[in-house]
Amino acid sequence: MNSYRPETVCVQGGYTPGNGEPRQIPIIQSTTFKYATSEDMGKLFDLEASGYFYTRLQNPTNDYVAAKIAALEGGTAGMLTSSGQAANFFAMFNIASCGDHIVSSSSIYGGTFNLMSVTMARMGIETTFVSPDCTEEELNAAFRPNTKCVFGETIANPALTVLDIEKFARAAHAHGVPLIVDNTFPTPVGCRPIEWGADIVTHSTTKYMDGHGVAVGGAIVDSGKFDWFASADRFPGLTTPDESYHGITYAEKFGLAGAFITKCTAQLMRDFGSIQSPQHAFYLNLGLESLHVRMPRHCENGQAVAEFLAAHPKVASVTYCGLPGDKYHELAKKYLPNGSCGVVSFELEGGREAASVFMKNLKLAAIETHVADARTCCLNPASSTHRQMTDEQLAAAGVPAGLVRMSCGLESKEDLIEDIAQALEAI
Ligand SMILES: *Cc1c(COP(=O)(O)O)cnc(C)c1O
Repeated sequence: MNSYRPETVCVQGGYTPGNGEPRQIPIIQSTTFKYATSEDMGKLFDLEASGYFYTRLQNPTNDYVAAKIAALEGGTAGMLTSSGQAANFFAMFNIASCGDHIVSSSSIYGGTFNLMSVTMARMGIETTFVSPDCTEEELNAAFRPNTKCVFGETIANPALTVLDIEKFARAAHAHGVPLIVDNTFPTPVGCRPIEWGADIVTHSTTKYMDGHGVAVGGAIVDSGKFDWFASADRFPGLTTPDESYHGITYAEKFGLAGAFITKCTAQLMRDFGSIQSPQHAFYLNLGLESLHVRMPRHCENGQAVAEFLAAHPKVASVTYCGLPGDKYHELAKKYLPNGSCGVVSFELEGGREAASVFMKNLKLAAIETHVADARTCCLNPASSTHRQMTDEQLAAAGVPAGLVRMSCGLESKEDLIEDIAQALEAI
């Protein structure tokens, strides 16, 4: 399936039924699996044989869907997690432990920033945040002998900055560590970070991959390209025996193609849980089947709305990398030639009050803490997620009081623009 074009992989990747088997991926709604002998099951526990024994570790429905996402990203192995938060935590914690260090773009999802700057810091893992626009020199200066990975988002949520993946990959590889890229916003339909040098790709499948606002989930894909042995001292978890699995050395036994995901499943999923339910994996797959049809439409609607807003006198500024004047337009042309995503952010003249009147008057766009769904939605951070901040604090954080983030859905772009136009009139 890997050799087919992305459109075909979206529809048929990951699962090839045999004679008389279900055409659609079956939901294996079972916590456990039956074996004839204890010896058979023992081999699974020792990772001597592959198979299923308990859904917290692996479930066939999840594995089919993970294999589809891995194929879409051009990776060698993948796994699903219960959320995007779990995916990013697992991807980093699989190689960084207490006493280690991470280099990350500062322009990332708030939840991930919090995970790294507060919760992982409590675990003894320190992160240095660098501007995505930093020079290579500044980026290289952020590394330490105990740095274990570099992290960034292809298109950052909510800042909509575009990551120079090649720049970050070069720095990571020069220091013998992998680059982890959260590819949630473009999805592999818009960008395949592995082709630009990323080693591990993560997703909040809750967003466009599901695309219908029905199931929270996450995914991790390994490119299979990072040579753990070349930096063996840095990654003892992959290159030395795991005593909790009878002395298996992951990179040896499963090769570069399988080591990262097998270790992540065998250790982190075993110990932390955070498995996606097979029912959610089934919903996710329904979303994936039309991802290649939906993404161009999200991008088309985002572009049309951004262009309309940019020309409107009541709009102070628009952030959308598809606009020629946008700071990230050149990077977008390189990394996102087929369009970026449906999320547009803009600042209204008239601040918080104007935003409140505007949003109250929208008929199609609902006020929601969500993005990347079939239905258009929007949010004014100043009156919701950032409401504890003063106007001055908001400006300093790069979230002006009149900022609106709009996630363009799959409706008619003409209807969306008419709705926005009449709501702007009301201000
Ligand atoms: C939403 C989001 C997350 C977190 O995902 P959940 O599925 O909500 O846990 C992580 N990264 C990005 C870029 C996101 O947009």
